[in-house]
Amino acid sequence: MKSEEYIALEEKYGAHNYQPLDVVIERGEGVWVFDVEGKRYLDCLSAYSALNQGHVHPKILAAAQEQMKKLTLTSRAFRNDQLPQLYQELVELSGYEMVLPMNSGVEAVETALKLARKWAYQSKQVPRHQAEIIVVEGNFHGRTISVVSFSTEAFYREDFGPFTPGFVIVKYGDAAAIENAITPNTAAVLIEPIQGEAGVVIPPKGYLKQVSEICRQNNVLFIADEIQSGLGRTGKLFACDHENVRPDLIILGKALSGGFYPVSAVLGDRKVLGLIRPGEHGSTFGGNPLGAAIARAAINVLIQENLIENAAKLGEYFQERLAEIPSRHVELVRGKGMLIGVVLKPEAGGARRFCVALQEKGILAKETHKNVIRFAPPLIIDKETLDWAIERITEVLTMP
Ligand SMILES: *Cc1c(COP(=O)(O)O)cnc(C)c1O
Repeated sequence: MKSEEYIALEEKYGAHNYQPLDVVIERGEGVWVFDVEGKRYLDCLSAYSALNQGHVHPKILAAAQEQMKKLTLTSRAFRNDQLPQLYQELVELSGYEMVLPMNSGVEAVETALKLARKWAYQSKQVPRHQAEIIVVEGNFHGRTISVVSFSTEAFYREDFGPFTPGFVIVKYGDAAAIENAITPNTAAVLIEPIQGEAGVVIPPKGYLKQVSEICRQNNVLFIADEIQSGLGRTGKLFACDHENVRPDLIILGKALSGGFYPVSAVLGDRKVLGLIRPGEHGSTFGGNPLGAAIARAAINVLIQENLIENAAKLGEYFQERLAEIPSRHVELVRGKGMLIGVVLKPEAGGARRFCVALQEKGILAKETHKNVIRFAPPLIIDKETLDWAIERITEVLTMP
């Protein structure tokens, strides 16, 4: 079948909850993907940073294949030999005391919200069902009803109410706004250290530190959603590390499995994670041995192959080179490590047409919101490949 036929089938039978670029990918290898016609593209989205380790990384593949032959699922009614090792490795990597595994990112977000509410009732003596959680404008934490309840993107919410109460929304990047929103019933503050979906929005320097300090002083949990920004993407293990901030809970997903499988987790200390009792929360697939084996391999690759250092070094280089492009369409380039947004001027006609032009030149990137092109290639990328990409990106950004 040709690309057009796959696209026609998808449009006919699939719900249209996405508007993908019209490229039908059949195979991936490292930083490259190949469409059904055999054309090669550089993946500059990395599945929203789930593919930090690149496509079909051989070591993760080997771990997945080996585990698949042995044991894939026990449910948590029984124990398995992989999960405890994943726990230990995550604890040693992160410095947190405990881990709660889930599957998709939004499930881990929901888990963190439940943990925060429970902590508020059990530890902080907030009156039952009165807990408040402070979130920020422009947030993206996933798509469940509770999570879109506090989205500020009208489009994500419009037809999906009624909504879950208990969330207070303040401005992003404004620590005083958080302080002012805190009440005796505040359980937690939930933020992304960098807002990926909002267009790679980076808060002012010192914001994370201030928020963390405000939380500590007010006995409020600080929850960082590092699903996109974590695991090396920004040139540190966690984006919060740039300000030496240690949140009470960290939410991980995406690259935790190197793109092989949905694996997410909440990391935190015993004072919060220790409150959850058997049966209060769970998931049939959460913590399954296949996912755990894959995540172990994915973490191993991240560390063994120095992907965090590579993201820091080449990310800075990439950002500098992008900023040098003499384009009349570009307003500014912003980012941290290998999470970069090229913000276009309002009169540029939207980011989509540039993404389509990039696709023709063999680069896959995706617009976030209307005017931002996100560049977030796998962290295994090398300088030669980046230079190859920059040449093509320059051609596209300097077009009329
Ligand atoms: C992708 C993402 C999520 C949701 O993860 P899913 O696996 O799609 O449910 C939550 N938060 C952030 C910051 C994300 O980037």
